[in-house]
Amino acid sequence: METSLAHLSITEAAKKLKVKEITALDLARACLVEIEKRNKSLNAYLEVYTDVEAQAKVADAKRAQNEKEGKASHPLLGIPLALKDNILVEGRVASAASKMLEHYTATYDATVIKKLKDAGAVFLGRTNMDEFALGSTTENSAFGVTRNPHDETRTAGGTSGGSAVAVASGMALGALGTDTGGSVRAPSSFCGVVGLKPTYGAVSRFGLIAAVSSFDQAGPLARTVEDAELLFTTIRGEDALDSTSISETEYPARTAPKKIGVPVSLIAQGLDADVRVRFDAALVQLTKAGIPWEPIELPTLSVALATYYITNFAEVSSNLARFDGIRYGLSQKGETLFDDYATSRAAGFGAETRRRIILGTYVLSAGYYDAFYGKATAAREQLRREFVEIFKKVDIIATPTMPCPATTIGEKSDPLSMYLMDIFTVTANLTGNPALTVPMGTVTRDGKNLPVGMQFTAAHGDESGLFAIGKLLVL
Ligand code: GLN
Repeated sequence: METSLAHLSITEAAKKLKVKEITALDLARACLVEIEKRNKSLNAYLEVYTDVEAQAKVADAKRAQNEKEGKASHPLLGIPLALKDNILVEGRVASAASKMLEHYTATYDATVIKKLKDAGAVFLGRTNMDEFALGSTTENSAFGVTRNPHDETRTAGGTSGGSAVAVASGMALGALGTDTGGSVRAPSSFCGVVGLKPTYGAVSRFGLIAAVSSFDQAGPLARTVEDAELLFTTIRGEDALDSTSISETEYPARTAPKKIGVPVSLIAQGLDADVRVRFDAALVQLTKAGIPWEPIELPTLSVALATYYITNFAEVSSNLARFDGIRYGLSQKGETLFDDYATSRAAGFGAETRRRIILGTYVLSAGYYDAFYGKATAAREQLRREFVEIFKKVDIIATPTMPCPATTIGEKSDPLSMYLMDIFTVTANLTGNPALTVPMGTVTRDGKNLPVGMQFTAAHGDESGLFAIGKLLVL
């Protein structure tokens, strides 16, 4: 049994803060002790802020002040959180785990940060990730791999691997990640925590370092569904600074989930047998809890992965064009202006980032646009329509989050095999639907118990349906 305060859920910690059993400073110190013990080997944090205790003291003073004035305190006041390294915090480095931005200091707060600051959360530091959020295991970081706390020879999942490890190992009570095609959910599944990819537009993207603007969403990683819900309700909302953000009132209200759909043909492909056993057991449990499942077919799912990656490459090539060695980021002088671009980008970007820029430029080029990007856009629209229809019949789509438990470091060195792991996660980003991963037990590899996650996808705007079903899964 873990007894340190650093292993409390946010909800439990907030209760203790409220009755003055503990202070924000106690919580922050407990996390710092765990960080001191474990970060060296796990490499979850790229930087631990030096003013954590000072932030906690401000939170304690604020709580005392609120009490004096008879005002309620936000439940996140004084809660120590970890932040993925692609979220801007004014005055602090945000590198997207890239040499390109290694020394870049943000000049403003992302909207999600502003909201967390208003709530009074304490920021512990910035966490490791795949460079520019491109990958599935956090092995593409320019600053070393993050290790899985359940087996240090294995990856943390990615791209928000550092955030997931921080939450799983007591180095933070909760964290923010970002999810373009599974980057909150994959590491949550590998590390045994809860992770939410919100409805596209539910959370402002202002101040996130862009990867794929039409897919990206910031989302919480937490120890419980309640904690993920609390973080989500704090960061959500329409934002004048992000024209793709939407208000929660724009979606029709839905009742609590009553029926699950399982895309059986998709699940029949390439899933580890013991992950399948865990998934079936979870479905049995949900049926007993009053939510039965039925098989569904979504014909366009068979091309979802290809559609996702073509779109991803295209938008990555366009978004990363801004890193030209001149305006900001790494700058290396060549003989000519063209050399400046080429040498800076060759030195600043890692192999996977360069691969995607090249492929993205190719799929957008005049001769190949129709064959690739145009087709992907049409398939995406078709998939979106199929999802709208299916949510008239079922309330939740359930799949495993990942087809396997945490991979060993180096196991997926072939990029295609890495991409294939995203088979279940990318669809929610293609269609903009919200998706939640919740631990569904463990499987055994090399004598170690490794967590695996169950993924629930709901209709646009129906995060509350996800939280309701997520709370029912207790394995
Ligand atoms: N694994 C996916 C990719 O490499 C998703 C990444 C993400 O969600 N940022 O694109």
